[in-house]
Amino acid sequence: MLKKIPHRLYLTEEQMPKQWYNLRADMKEKCDPLLNPSTMQPIKEADLYPVFCEKLAAQEMDDDTRYFDIPEEIQDFYKMYRPSPLIRAYNLEKALGTPAKIYYKFEGNNTSGSHKLNSAIAQVYYAKEQGLTSLTTETGAGQWGTALSEACSYYNIPLTVYMVKCSYEQKPFRKIVMQTFGANVIPSPSNTTNVGRSILEKDPLTGGSLGCAISEAIEKAVTTPGCRYVLGSVLNQVLLHQSIIGLESKQAMELIDEYPDVVIGCAGGGSNLGGLIAPFMQDKLLGKASPRIVAVEPASCPSFTRGRYAYDFCDTGKVTPLAKMYTLGSGFMPSPSHAGGLRYHGMSPILSKLYHDGYMEAVSYEQTKVFEAAVLFAKQETILPAPESAHAIRGAIDEALKCKESGEAKTILFGLTGTGYFDMTAYNAYNEKTMTDYIPSDEDLAKSFDGLPKVSDNK
Ligand SMILES: *Cc1c(COP(=O)(O)O)cnc(C)c1O
Repeated sequence: MLKKIPHRLYLTEEQMPKQWYNLRADMKEKCDPLLNPSTMQPIKEADLYPVFCEKLAAQEMDDDTRYFDIPEEIQDFYKMYRPSPLIRAYNLEKALGTPAKIYYKFEGNNTSGSHKLNSAIAQVYYAKEQGLTSLTTETGAGQWGTALSEACSYYNIPLTVYMVKCSYEQKPFRKIVMQTFGANVIPSPSNTTNVGRSILEKDPLTGGSLGCAISEAIEKAVTTPGCRYVLGSVLNQVLLHQSIIGLESKQAMELIDEYPDVVIGCAGGGSNLGGLIAPFMQDKLLGKASPRIVAVEPASCPSFTRGRYAYDFCDTGKVTPLAKMYTLGSGFMPSPSHAGGLRYHGMSPILSKLYHDGYMEAVSYEQTKVFEAAVLFAKQETILPAPESAHAIRGAIDEALKCKESGEAKTILFGLTGTGYFDMTAYNAYNEKTMTDYIPSDEDLAKSFDGLPKVSDNK
């Protein structure tokens, strides 16, 4: 007889992964290369040095190294808040009346309230090692800015955060947490950069976007000596660092003789999903197993489900390299939904390629549907989820309900990326029934696609 599976499963310190896994090494077809925006030729590692620190540029470009050792200092930092628990959602299963087994990996057990600290600490470690003297970044909902503020204060590196203006206004407490860790927080678009000034000239009342905040942070980095830019999602290096989520999950499931039939995660820029699925996708790529992999995105910013697979800029200001990815167009301004961390026009090139090649699926939900799932989950599992994370919950609940209909006892694993304590405006709107759903029309998207860069690859 199998032992009863515990509610919460933690690896021991000895069992924690000592290497990150690079999914690209096992992809049969590699991602298309990043293009240099001035020449439209594939970028070389050294082209990235003005923007990224060198070790991270190397990780970004490395399609072949399967495992990267996690430096010991980073392993030690991880031990302050990892391993994160793998939790069996017994109460949620019961409430749904499903035969499915639902597991979730909870990444909200640190002050940033999300998985973002996993990559933040790695990026600041390498910046420190290179002797850089300051960093810049953007933040949407504020989780990345908070994670990076924590990491920068740990390594004593000054940080400037460009925070998407609508989040800055919706979430003043996030800003205060970042300031408490010593960061300089500026609402974006701002008049501190050329690109910010030009965006404000065109649209003085804009709530901003991640793409626009990225442009500002990059401009600041390349115009400040000893300063580099760091990004909390989308990039290959970030997915590499986030593989810790999936590696821990897979190992914990092995300890209880479990393996997921379905792996589900929310998708903003793709980093938590890319990290969670990494070792499971490896099995799929190597023909060892065939779990379904499902990305859940907001209907208001549907990069996978309605985007184009095309070369596009990673930012609104068109200063970044071009990446081949699912995109809504770098000029796309998503409506100010409550899942700020998912308001990004593009998607990780790795996940885009895997999706394009049929290795994964995607679904989108309107935010009221997502909050309905969030509240049900909170009541059953006593964790108040971040609105972003609640997308994955919605996806998992719907999979579990399908099992209820079919009578199949599938094993579902989803990523619970963080907590929603700073999202009370959103929860209030849901409770008061003033929350609205905005879905872009085909015309809105067509207009945005018209602005895609004219690269021979983009038909
Ligand atoms: C940033 C964030 C996301 C989305 O980012 P990904 O890079 O797609 O993972 C999801 N959940 C939370 C809690 C976040 O902070």
